[in-house]
Amino acid sequence: MEIYVPDIYQENIYKIDYETLMSRGIKCLIFDLDNTLAPINEKLPREENKELFKKLKESGFKLYIVSNSIKARVKPFHEELKVEYVYSAKKPHINKVNELIVNSKFGLDEIAIIGDSMMDDIVCGNTIGITTILLDQINKKEFPLARIKRIKEHKIQKKLRDKDLFTKGRYYV
Ligand SMILES: [Mg+2]
Repeated sequence: MEIYVPDIYQENIYKIDYETLMSRGIKCLIFDLDNTLAPINEKLPREENKELFKKLKESGFKLYIVSNSIKARVKPFHEELKVEYVYSAKKPHINKVNELIVNSKFGLDEIAIIGDSMMDDIVCGNTIGITTILLDQINKKEFPLARIKRIKEHKIQKKLRDKDLFTKGRYYV
């Protein structure tokens, strides 16, 4: 069950304590797109998202977007936010993320993956051995495949709660 448990759990990308991450040696942040950076019905990033990414880059973080969505969905975010990206990443499969990590030259202890899906983002990151940050999904509206995974996630979260390993809504750093 530990494979599902994130290292950090926060409400959204704006609530993450990036200074603490940096002080722990994290230099590279891999962001999920759908329901992490933007709801699925928004085709471009919001102004506050642009501001956050600008600030993070200025403080020295290397940023990536790694999404399971297709290129046409991810590319506008890459252009607007000016960060490298991987599309059709097939998380929780680790191949594409591993490839990015090898090319990035960062060590595993310098990288964090940030996303709203325990089944995809957290399992992927924990399998690889990088820091995992779970967020609440921005919006309940999801693509069909994500909706199916969410049902499974709810069952797992119930088990995690029973074992006192993770409780939804109980944020921690
Ligand atoms: Mg997502």
